[in-house]
Amino acid sequence: MAHALLVASPGLGHLIPILELGNRLSSVLNIRVTVLAVTTGSSSLTETEAIRAVAARGTCEVTELPPVDTDHSVEPNATVFTKIVEKMRAAKPVVQDAIKSMTQKPTVMIVDFLGTGMMSIADDAGMAKYVYVASNSWFLALMMYLPVLDKVVEGEYIDIKEPMKIPGCRSIGPDDLIETMLDRSNRHYRECVRCGEEIPMSDGILVNTWEELEGKTLPALREDGELSRVMKVPVYAIGPIVRSNELTKRPNSIFEWLDKQQERSVLYVCLGSGGTLSLKQTTELACGLELSGQSFLWVLRRPTSYLGESSTDDDLVSAGLPEGFLDRTRGMGLVVTEWAPQVEILSHGSIGGFLSHCGWSSVLESLTKGVPIVAWPLYAEQWMNATLLTEEIGVAVRTSELPSKGVIGREEVASLVRKIMAGEGEEGRKIRAKAEEVRVSSERVWTQGGSSYYSLLEWAKQCRLLS
Ligand code: UDP
Repeated sequence: MAHALLVASPGLGHLIPILELGNRLSSVLNIRVTVLAVTTGSSSLTETEAIRAVAARGTCEVTELPPVDTDHSVEPNATVFTKIVEKMRAAKPVVQDAIKSMTQKPTVMIVDFLGTGMMSIADDAGMAKYVYVASNSWFLALMMYLPVLDKVVEGEYIDIKEPMKIPGCRSIGPDDLIETMLDRSNRHYRECVRCGEEIPMSDGILVNTWEELEGKTLPALREDGELSRVMKVPVYAIGPIVRSNELTKRPNSIFEWLDKQQERSVLYVCLGSGGTLSLKQTTELACGLELSGQSFLWVLRRPTSYLGESSTDDDLVSAGLPEGFLDRTRGMGLVVTEWAPQVEILSHGSIGGFLSHCGWSSVLESLTKGVPIVAWPLYAEQWMNATLLTEEIGVAVRTSELPSKGVIGREEVASLVRKIMAGEGEEGRKIRAKAEEVRVSSERVWTQGGSSYYSLLEWAKQCRLLS
């Protein structure tokens, strides 16, 4: 049986997509898949939990590698991105050892885009090497074109008032720039450029999107032109690959409440695994939800300016929420502070909208369930994702300014929520219809002959995984 090796970068946002890719490869291609997970070694139990949850399904083998120490090479205030890139570099010897100890040597290695520094291991071991971008192809295009921009653009990108042109793709407006690009003297930025230079040294790129979703950008990456000249290697759109089981136990209280709500009547509010709001913004969001009159399920996180580390969940709730909010919204809303079973929640018939920070996994989880989005981007490439969802795909509404720069007022929150939830206006109707269309397309691409299914087989043929 053919054997593929996947190496996951630390952090749940990188680990989960790689684990899910592993499951998809082994189930669709019927090949052996081993995932080596480089972990942070921090006290976070969730990486271990994620690995256990995926390993329990038994479709791919998962090994959690011993944590590597990078304290000497990374300054304490370095960005998460830089820390992960450094961890991946430092983990090369443990990955090499793990490969040496395998009785059946893999013939293909896949790393996520922060792990391109590992690709020399594949060269040494005679394996083909691929990069997995668990995001959309517009973001991939930016990453690939960044080394060119780095050469031709003078000064800071943010000082250029015109949208930044990427050949054949939607231009990137100043508000959509990822924060990495805001300061070119930063090490974080240099690491990003280096990633952009290294990705085309692979044998190809797998990206978690699909042809019908990004019908403009994917052809631009492949068709003969300035962009494909920097790409050099084939791009396989093999998405959507989304998590298919939950990482934690099912809290009955949430589902008992959801079961009592009307179909498509509840807005689910969750800003990802790490997204938090200021105290003021939390209050405005709460007031906006109340004002909207729509039912909601809100996964509330500790407000950024709330410092009581030893506080209980009840304290957190009362710190961010306006006086009497929970009493006034009882029956209409449910506020939880624990890790939510997001995929299962989005699959519930009573969910009619998702207020999301637009992390790509959350976006795909929503799109595959036909749930329209209120886009509330907070960091990384989420501003680009929000633009893609609103202006190109048409399944979302977004805030008028960046939540990271100003406070979004309660009236605006209420109006955005009402727009996407059932029953209000032409714009909302169109968005909901589009969300349903995208859901259907997300399923079709994985049927036999569908574009992602076909793309995965093409990739498997290129790297001789199919006999
Ligand atoms: N997630 C979850 N429960 C929570 C918060 C997040 O299950 O309470 C999951 C969510 O389903 C998604 C992942 O965590 O799979 C978050 O990934 P995403 O790319 O959306 O954003 P990130 O947190 O990496 O910024």
